Amino acid sequence: MSNPSLLILPGDGIGPEVMAEVRKIITWMGDKRDLTFDVSEDLVGGCAYDKHGVPLHDDTMAHAQEVDAVLLGAVGGPKYDDLDFSVKPERGLLRLRKEMDLFSNLRPAQCFDALADFSSLKKDVVAGLDIVIVRELTSGVYFGEPRGIFKEGNERVGVNTQRYTESEIARVARSAFELARKRNNKVCSMEKANVMESGQLWRDVVTEIHAAEYSDVELSHMYADAGAMQLCRWPKQFDVIVTDNLFGDMLSDMAAMLTGSLGMLPSASLGVPMDNGRPKALYEPVHGSAPDIAGQGKANPIACILSFAMALRYSFDRGDEAERIEQAVETVLADGLRTADLLGEEGVTPVSTSEMGDAIVAALDASL
Ligand code: NAD
Repeated sequence: MSNPSLLILPGDGIGPEVMAEVRKIITWMGDKRDLTFDVSEDLVGGCAYDKHGVPLHDDTMAHAQEVDAVLLGAVGGPKYDDLDFSVKPERGLLRLRKEMDLFSNLRPAQCFDALADFSSLKKDVVAGLDIVIVRELTSGVYFGEPRGIFKEGNERVGVNTQRYTESEIARVARSAFELARKRNNKVCSMEKANVMESGQLWRDVVTEIHAAEYSDVELSHMYADAGAMQLCRWPKQFDVIVTDNLFGDMLSDMAAMLTGSLGMLPSASLGVPMDNGRPKALYEPVHGSAPDIAGQGKANPIACILSFAMALRYSFDRGDEAERIEQAVETVLADGLRTADLLGEEGVTPVSTSEMGDAIVAALDASL
C-alpha cells in the first residue's frame, strides 16, 4: 500500500519557521513509528505571489485536490498590504478553502494543565478542557443573497441574508457526529431556533440526521446565546459543538481564548469524503504570519504541531499518535519550557522555535 500523501504549504512570515518544526515530527513518525508520509512542499500566499504573480498557482491548487491532506503555515505580511485585493496572500488560502469545498471547520479548545493560569477564567474551570467547535464554513449569512448596502427612501439599508439548505446543514451535522464518535460521543447543536426560521430548520435537520444515522451519539440543542454563556460558565460540559457560520465564528474564537495563547491553537477544515473515504482536509494554525516576530526564532511552533496531530487523528485515523504528540506537548510545558508568547512567570527564559521543536521530539522519544 502506498504511503499517505501530505502537501505542505509553509507560506509567509513565521509559517516556514513553525513548519520546520512540524517537519521534525513528521520525520520522527517515519523513523520511530513506521508512519511515513509522501511529503511534497509548495508555495502559498505572498511567496507564491513573488514567484508566480498569484497567491496560489493553478498547479498547487490541483495538487491540493489530490493529496490526502494539506498542512498550511500562515500567509500575509506588510510587504503585500498594497496589492490588489484579487492577489493578496489571503486570497490563496480562501481559494484553497473554496475550491476544496471545506465546509466543516474544526476549532478545538484544549487547555494544557501547565497553561491553565493563562486563561481569563478560573483554573478549575479550564484545566483539562478539551472540546471542539464545528463551524459551518461555506454558507450562511456570510454568503447568502441578497446582500449589500441599498438606498431605501432617504436612508441606506445594510442587508445580509441568513440562508441554509437542508443538505448544507446535513453535511456539517454528519461531520460533527462522525467527530464525536472519535471523541466522547456527545454533540451539542447551537442555533437560534426561537427567533430564526433558518435556526428552526437547522434544529430539525440535525435532529433527523441524528435519529436516522447517529442515535448512538448523545445529542442536545442549545440556543447560541445560552451556549455562549454556558461556554464561559462551565465549558467542560461540552464535547463537540456544531453551529452555523456566524455563531461559529464568534463561539470558536471565544472558546479558543479560554485556553490562552494564539500560538497554541490548531484548526482543521474538512470537506466531502474522497474516493479513499478520507475527507478533503486542510490543517493550519489559527494564528497568522506574525510579521512582528518573523525571522527571530521567537514563534511558538505548537499550534502548527498540534494541527499536524489533528491531521493524524482526522485524516489518517491515528488518534493514538495524535495523543502521543499532545502528551509530548503537555510534557514540555509541564517541564517549564516556554516560547516568548507564553511567558508569564517571573524568571523564565524563553526557548526558541527550534528548541521547542527539539524538546517535543525528545519528549516523543521518551514516550517509547
Ligand atoms: P497574527 O496572528 O499574525 O499575530 C497576532 C499577534 O500574535 C502578534 O503579536 C504575533 O507576534 C503573535 N503570534 C501569532 N502567532 C504566534 C506564534 N505562533 N508564536 C508567538 N506569537 C505569535 O495576526 P496579525 O498580526 O493580525 O496578522 C499578521 C498577518 O497575518 C496579516 O498579513 C494577516 O492578514 C495574516 N493572517 C493570516 C492568517 C492565516 O494565514 N490563516 C490568519 C490571520 C492573519
